[in-house]
Amino acid sequence: MDFDLIVIGGGVNGCGIARDAAMRGFKTALVEKNDFGSGTTGASSQMIHGGARYLLSDVQTTKLSSIDSGYIQKIVPHLLFRIPFIFPVLRKPDKAELPQKLYFEALETYFETYDKYSALKNGKPHTRLSKDEALALEPDLVEDLIGAVTFDEWGIDSFRLCLANVLSAVEHGCEAYNHAEVTEILKEGGRVIGVRVKNLLDGSRRELRAKLVFNAAGPWVPQIAAMAGCELKLRPAKGVHLVLDRRITNYAIMAKAIDGRSIFLMPYQNTTVIGTTDDDYFGDPDEIPILEDEVEYLLEGVESVFPRVREARVINAWAGVRPTLYRRGPYEDDLSREHEIFDHEFRDKLPGFLSIAGGKLASYRLMAQEAVDAVCHKLGRVSPCRTHQVPLPGGERKVDPELLARDYGVPLFAANRLVYRHGSRAIRVLEMLKERPTLGNVICQCEPVLECELRYAIRHEWARTLGDLRRRTRFSIGPCEGTRCFMMGAQILGEELDLSPAEVYAQLNAFMEKSWKGRAPVLDGASLQQEELCSSVYFNVGNLDQY
Ligand SMILES: Cc1cc2nc3c(=O)[nH]c(=O)nc-3n(C[C@H](O)[C@H](O)[C@H](O)COP(=O)(O)OP(=O)(O)OC[C@H]3O[C@@H](n4cnc5c(N)ncnc54)[C@H](O)[C@@H]3O)c2cc1C
Repeated sequence: MDFDLIVIGGGVNGCGIARDAAMRGFKTALVEKNDFGSGTTGASSQMIHGGARYLLSDVQTTKLSSIDSGYIQKIVPHLLFRIPFIFPVLRKPDKAELPQKLYFEALETYFETYDKYSALKNGKPHTRLSKDEALALEPDLVEDLIGAVTFDEWGIDSFRLCLANVLSAVEHGCEAYNHAEVTEILKEGGRVIGVRVKNLLDGSRRELRAKLVFNAAGPWVPQIAAMAGCELKLRPAKGVHLVLDRRITNYAIMAKAIDGRSIFLMPYQNTTVIGTTDDDYFGDPDEIPILEDEVEYLLEGVESVFPRVREARVINAWAGVRPTLYRRGPYEDDLSREHEIFDHEFRDKLPGFLSIAGGKLASYRLMAQEAVDAVCHKLGRVSPCRTHQVPLPGGERKVDPELLARDYGVPLFAANRLVYRHGSRAIRVLEMLKERPTLGNVICQCEPVLECELRYAIRHEWARTLGDLRRRTRFSIGPCEGTRCFMMGAQILGEELDLSPAEVYAQLNAFMEKSWKGRAPVLDGASLQQEELCSSVYFNVGNLDQY
């Protein structure tokens, strides 16, 4: 056997399992068909939250997520940011089920209960605001408001979270492969003994053999299980988010959609995000359509509490599929977010094969711990989990962006973002300036991203495509939709990977095609005008004929 453990799927769960297993001394391989975090994890709402909405129906999820959120904050402090939420209480229609005063009291009692869990994740207790107080905090809230309740959650960059886990796993001896698709589960003597993998960039194939194979493929879990001859059903649910071109508020704001579902508007990095829908989805997880009526559903819902939302430009949309456990009956919103580990030795008489599904980004570390406990049990090894104690790469100590900006002569706004993404490892990125001071140039101005960070991501973080660069650095993600930087990014990628001009060109086209999928459903008004401008740059300057 080449390995003790092969993990299929580089979402947050797979990356978390790989790290934990490698730290416990297992010889581990991680195989991801696209890029780390590019599946459901990257399409999530990016919150390491407790989940106030699960309090009534799924309290165990709220508790576990809150506990794990507390640990995640400790091991990767640079990646987390507080998101204060305002829950506006609107004037009720005369025939509302609960009288106005009672409704406000009930809501406050709800958040009083949430406070108990919130404390586990260092959340601030809720507060009750009068109308004037709420409007003082957020003057663009709708006028027809009688007050508000506040609570808070934590945001994260889920791509960087995955990457931090992969980096740590590899530093503990794991072999990690992105753009490597598992095409077959290998069996011998009635047990799983490995996987066949295809490198999707160069077409090469190889076999990896291990004592155990862990299927952590999120919504693709049933597909991988089927490759092994097992039936494993999920109740997958699709969620859509919209991205606005700027931060239109400093607070996250809860709103009700037309069907009464809770949705939100939240500041996220240098943009604003609106989320999310929650609908059964039994289609292909690789091709998730975003419909115009889903876009309108979200905008209309947010508009009911924050009318100025229409003044911003929607620049992008993303969709993901929750790998929710199978249940027949409940509405999508009411489905439990609990997780489960499936041991196919007992379930399907197939030793050497395990699967994991369900759960939350916010409880990924705990899920990984349980998964690797199961691995220990199966391989007869006793080795305690340490992932809640040992910081992830970059989380070891604080660094001051101001000092970095001064010492390395880079703009403070870029140093700030660099420290956010890399923590103390921002120093390693900036050390590259010793090679050539021009590596301190700002390549992507919307974010902003320095040239050294792009090159660092290629040399040390497995970035092999422009999409990988975008996920690692937020390069080319801003309001100009990459118009000002993606060609420079392609040039850098070509230089670092020694690509031919034709390969660089193919990278550009592939990137454009992917980006277009996120923009097409939101093209309207000013976005349409911007699209025309970008197109003329792509055609006339870049000569990108396939666009
Ligand atoms: C809209 C939405 C919002 C959400 N918001 C939040 C939130 O704010 N907070 C929270 O805690 N949770 C949230 N969640 C839930 C959370 O995102 C998921 O529970 C979590 O990301 C699942 O991670 P995963 O690793 O299991 O799956 P994934 O991230 O999907 O990873 C599975 C990986 O397997 C890979 N794969 C598939 N097939 C193969 C193959 N053949 N070979 C190799 N690799 C393969 C895929 O490419 C993918 O990268 C949200 C989910 C959705 C959909």
